[in-house]
Amino acid sequence: MKVLICALNTKYVHSSLAPWCLKSGIDAYTDCECRVYESTINESPEKILSCILSEEFDIIGFCTYIWNKETVLYLSEKIKEMRGTTLVLGGPEVSYNAGEILRESPFVDYVISGEGEEIFARLCSGESAENIPGVSYRKNGKIIEKPPYVSEKPLPSPYTEEYFNALKGRISYIETSRGCPFSCAFCLSGRSCKVRFFDIDEAKKNILKLANSGTKTVKFVDRTFNADRKRAREIFKFIIDNYGVNIPKGVCFHFELEGELIDDETIELLSKAPKGIIQVEIGLQSFNEETLRAINRKTNIPLLCKNIRKILQLENIHTHIDLIAGLPKESMDSFENSFNRALELKPHMLQLGFLKLLYGSELRENPEHVFGFNKKPPYEVISTPYISRDELALLHKVEDVFERTYNSLRFPNTVSYLHSLYESPFQMYKAFSLYLENKDAKTLDKLTYEIYRFFSTEAGINKEKLRDMLVLDRLSTNRMGALPEFLKVKTPVIKDILNQLEKDEKTKRKTNIKRAATVLTTTSEFIYVDYDECDPVTGQYKVNRIKLESIF
Ligand code: SF4
Repeated sequence: MKVLICALNTKYVHSSLAPWCLKSGIDAYTDCECRVYESTINESPEKILSCILSEEFDIIGFCTYIWNKETVLYLSEKIKEMRGTTLVLGGPEVSYNAGEILRESPFVDYVISGEGEEIFARLCSGESAENIPGVSYRKNGKIIEKPPYVSEKPLPSPYTEEYFNALKGRISYIETSRGCPFSCAFCLSGRSCKVRFFDIDEAKKNILKLANSGTKTVKFVDRTFNADRKRAREIFKFIIDNYGVNIPKGVCFHFELEGELIDDETIELLSKAPKGIIQVEIGLQSFNEETLRAINRKTNIPLLCKNIRKILQLENIHTHIDLIAGLPKESMDSFENSFNRALELKPHMLQLGFLKLLYGSELRENPEHVFGFNKKPPYEVISTPYISRDELALLHKVEDVFERTYNSLRFPNTVSYLHSLYESPFQMYKAFSLYLENKDAKTLDKLTYEIYRFFSTEAGINKEKLRDMLVLDRLSTNRMGALPEFLKVKTPVIKDILNQLEKDEKTKRKTNIKRAATVLTTTSEFIYVDYDECDPVTGQYKVNRIKLESIF
């Protein structure tokens, strides 16, 4: 049998571990010839189709997710029409609705629910679907649907030479545990099984292999990496100890952590990590206790905030926290409160997601908290008994502006100044998002200009200070080192001081290193930035300041 496993990622820079896990099962348990094909959803479906059809296969499997389901179904239909190949769909997007997929898509032959390494291999080796758990199929016109499968066996490793050759420097993924000990009502990860931890020594070997593969980012897909704190510490320590020795400098590792489980021993260990090698993502979801209860999260909010603050105070860990809009019991006011409280923590990034009703999630099965949601992937909630369609639409606008300002890390001084001028940061982003509608602010220069134009007319603003903050941000976060015309201050002082700096060995510009300079009018300072190495956590270049008597 000749088998092809296809994965369509969202961007070229992402790789996918799933097809390689499936291939490892086929290689370990069968004598089938198996190939992996990876592409992205941005590629034209016709081009993907012609790549897939460039060779004959007996079985074609697709890894199906919310972002690629439509394309996968389109391709499957075409392949069946043109070649009649046996088609198998697997992945989270079909695991809990296998019957529906088989009913609505007659061109799909089998659906694999749950973990596929072992059962996809059994199917490919010719075993009858009837005997294989987790494989749904048709028999005499009837659909036989099976629940998601969880393997009891140790799983074969996806990290083969072929996998590393295909990685080509893209973001790589590692799984050292499967499942989640929690059971958030919007998520699938805690539904199928208790968390299982894979062999830690194997994990360490794979960390080294991945770190040396040319990738710059290794993401741990473990749903709650610190579910076992001792084990998490052992892996953190392994990474820290090997960094710069067996792990090349410049590689960073990304983890999803449960904030309340971050203990002082972990903080102490993380404090020793070189700057920027560890990034963490912590799901807050909401600050509304009723909401948290409704989604099965028993969050100790003060403890969670205390731990996030401790991580941020280390200043060496890039920290990303998440909120979700549209959750049960979360009104616009309560979301605004969650947003403001999350920002008070000053995370490097705050991700605003929108509730999606995934197949298999508790909220989809009991949709009492939802009025409407999109029936097509990603199944986003449109309105709930607590938040209206218009309010969610407004939150989308706020999210867009927030992504381009705060989360872009391009305006740290500016947003911090502007937050203080409004009743709350949320009100500031809301006002700006309404202003920015129908404005052309696609480029950084245009966006900077619109920020200046809008906020410089707002009550209480110090226009000069706003300009200084935008200048500081532009020079410290953009290695081009050029200011847009409207931010420039024309004074001979700049050239004079630059010349002075060149005369001193200590302040002379280094060879091939660009230098930018200007003056800040509100503090009467000359500032200059050398674009050598930026801070790996904040992405900012160091700003050097010289106090002036006066500028003009
Ligand atoms: S949201 Fe996170 S913590 Fe909750 S069940 Fe999913 S993976 Fe686990």
